[in-house]
Amino acid sequence: MPFYPATLFAGADIAENGCVCVACRFGHGRTRAARVRRYTSDTTDAQWEQLAAVLPWPVWLDGGGGRPEEYCRRQIIDAIFNLADNGCKWRNLPCDFPPWRTVYGLFHRWWHSGDVLAVHNDLRDRLRVNTSRDPDPTAAIIDSQTVRAAETVGTDTRGWDGGKKMNGRKRHIIVDTLGLLLICHVTAASVQDRDGARTALRQLRELFTTLALVWADGVYSGKLVGWARQQLGINLDIVRRSDKGPDSLSCRDVGSSNAPSPGSPNAADAFATTNAYPNTTKPWSPGR
Ligand SMILES: [Zn+2]
Repeated sequence: MPFYPATLFAGADIAENGCVCVACRFGHGRTRAARVRRYTSDTTDAQWEQLAAVLPWPVWLDGGGGRPEEYCRRQIIDAIFNLADNGCKWRNLPCDFPPWRTVYGLFHRWWHSGDVLAVHNDLRDRLRVNTSRDPDPTAAIIDSQTVRAAETVGTDTRGWDGGKKMNGRKRHIIVDTLGLLLICHVTAASVQDRDGARTALRQLRELFTTLALVWADGVYSGKLVGWARQQLGINLDIVRRSDKGPDSLSCRDVGSSNAPSPGSPNAADAFATTNAYPNTTKPWSPGR
C-alpha cells in the first residue's frame, strides 16, 4: 500500500501556506484560497498531524500518470468528514470546500483501492498500541444495527427488519474491547443477525488469526455458536440479560477500562459498568 514514506514525510519542507500535505508541497494546493475552519467536523491540528502522515502517496508524484492535485488534502478530508457527519448529498457540500466532484473523485479512488480501510486499520492499530495492547485483538464483541435507507437505495440491497419495524440496511459490526471497529458487514435489513454474523465472523477470522473469543447477546445463540467453534475456532460467548446488567449488550456498551478479559466468568457484569465509546475513539470520529 503506497503511503507517505515516513522518512520523506518527516524531513519534508512545509509548503508556503504551512501545510504538510503533498497537494500543497508538490501540487497546486498552496495556490488555492485557505478556508475558515468553522465546522465541528473539521479536523483539529492534532488530528491532521496524525492523519496527513498516513494518507496514500499519490501516483502522479511518482510519474504514474494523472495531474497534480489541485486542492489541499486537509480541505478534502474536512469535506469528506463534513458529509459523513451531516449526511448531505455530494452535490450539496458547503461551498467553502473544494468542488464536490474533486472531493468525490478522490474519495472514490481511495475507497476502491482499499486505502480508506488501510488508513482506518493503521489508526486503530496505533490506538491499541498506545493503550498497551497488541495490534491484533484476542477478543471482540458482535452486534447489529438497522439503518433506514432512502428510496433511492435499490430494493436488492435493502429490506424490512420486522423487529425494528424499519426498511433499510443492517450493519453487522464487530468491535474490539476498546470499541474500535474490526469488521462491518452490510446487508439488507431483512437478513437475520445470525445469518449476517456468519459472513462477519468469517471475515474476522481471515483478518485476525489471534482472535479466540467473541461476546454476543442472546440473538446469536443456537447453531451459530457451534458453527463458529467448529468452522472458525472462535468461542462465541452468549451474554445473557441479568438483573444487574444492561437491557441488552451492544457494541456501544464496550469500554476500555472495564472490558472483561477473555475467559471472564461474568462478562455481563463488566459490560454493565460502562455505556459509551471510550475517549480514545473520538479523534477519528467526524463531528466530535
Ligand atoms: Zn495541504
